Amino acid sequence: MTSAIKSLCQTLNLEENSLNVHESAFRFKAHADFIAQIEPNNPNDPLLKQILPVQLETHIHPDYKYDPVGDLQKNPTPSLIHKYHGRVLLMASPKCDIHCRYCFRRHFPYEQQINQRHWQAALDIIQADSSIHEVILSGGDPFSLSESALVNLIEKIEAIEHIQTLRIHTRTPIVAPSKSPQTTFLGWAKSSRLNKMMVVHCNHANELSEKTAGLLTLYRDTGFHLLNQSVLLKGVNDDTQSLENLSHALFKQGVLPYYLHQLDRVQGASHFEVSDDIAQTLHETLRKSLPGYLVPKLVREIAGEPYKTPL
Ligand SMILES: *Cc1c(COP(=O)(O)O)cnc(C)c1O
Ligand code: SF4
Repeated sequence: MTSAIKSLCQTLNLEENSLNVHESAFRFKAHADFIAQIEPNNPNDPLLKQILPVQLETHIHPDYKYDPVGDLQKNPTPSLIHKYHGRVLLMASPKCDIHCRYCFRRHFPYEQQINQRHWQAALDIIQADSSIHEVILSGGDPFSLSESALVNLIEKIEAIEHIQTLRIHTRTPIVAPSKSPQTTFLGWAKSSRLNKMMVVHCNHANELSEKTAGLLTLYRDTGFHLLNQSVLLKGVNDDTQSLENLSHALFKQGVLPYYLHQLDRVQGASHFEVSDDIAQTLHETLRKSLPGYLVPKLVREIAGEPYKTPL
């Protein structure tokens, strides 16, 4: 076992042998901010389950794939994915501050595909296609770039006249708020002509803290609309109470729920799957117990579909 996992167990007062740890090429990674939100002495903690590499990941499931959402077929140039009308996704960084065990990109050839040397080719394609109005920075996590590299990229996007909206898909403000971009980035945001959208990724209310609240307020105050996407995960948030608490906790920090994703069927994540029947029942219960604006859209990504498919 690596020393990082040993020290995690020590911090959380957990018995290493009881956890069925199994390391893989998609290695263990979590920032101290996230670890601080895990409850000690609880091997079933919903945050711990998202980061601990376990034996179950070695289970090969016949319906699970290595590229479940067809991303590898939709790259006009490395780092750019143009799957939906009017918006493109630019993978700005191969890194994340956390390795979520269920991640659909766990087998994606990150390092070859995502590299700053591909940005210019991607920007040229965006410049040449005036049907594109929105650029989505994703990854990995775009907030794992240095602030100067991030702002440099954003300014190039802003210079393309037909781009109206910049959207950032990031988990950093939730899982590593203390290293999320601030000064330079906020300076840019204050004076930008673009519509600004930030979609964070939070699966459980326990991931939110005073640190995330402070940071999200800063982003909101500079004009970002804040939305959240989460993944429905067995043993993490597959019960009504967890999902209700999540919506309320997000709203308290100025974030509206956007998508609740059914898991992408990526090899190694089948133990997180929640059946469509249970997902729909949970979603129906949320509709009854929450105001409409706190109910996320329940969707599944199906390769080849023109939008994320509602269940
Ligand atoms: C999810 C996704 C988008 C954004 O879809 P919205 O429904 O607008 O949130 C865009 N491009 C790709 C490749 C995506 O996977
Ligand atoms: S933050 Fe997103 S891209 Fe990064 S490992 Fe987690 S799910 Fe995957």
